[in-house]
Amino acid sequence: MKEKIGLCEVCFNLAEGPRCRICTDERRDAGLICVVEEPGDVIPVERTHEFRGRYHVLGGALSPIDGVDPEDLKLEELYARIAGPPAHDPPVREVVLATNPTTTGEATALHIAAALRERAPEVVVTRLASGLPVGADLEYADEVTLGKALAGRRTL
Ligand SMILES: [Zn+2]
Repeated sequence: MKEKIGLCEVCFNLAEGPRCRICTDERRDAGLICVVEEPGDVIPVERTHEFRGRYHVLGGALSPIDGVDPEDLKLEELYARIAGPPAHDPPVREVVLATNPTTTGEATALHIAAALRERAPEVVVTRLASGLPVGADLEYADEVTLGKALAGRRTL
């Protein structure tokens, strides 16, 4: 029997059980969180082999015109992960904002960066380096370009 696919209770990536494969992998660095818009964005980042941390899937990007407001995304869940990681996990030290290089993705990244500056000033917030095709989804970036963007990420 095939197990039902749901969302990971920690990062909201696709999961076959309560937690996804990445969140249950002890070798993945829990102090480093990569924020993406959709579960499909985890795949291209994984393909680069540049990222050994964990993820947080927002479930979209901020777009007031389309009625997508902060409370529609998994933002509070992200802040809660940073404010109070499980006792056995190290504190979060860096959040990589890997939202799409689109208007809504950029707006979302800036919103999160501002919120984290206020709530968790000790956490380093970075954004993928430029070089990704502007206006395109992360999903369509090739792994070399995306790998370079990850390696060259800059502090916001
Ligand atoms: Zn997960």
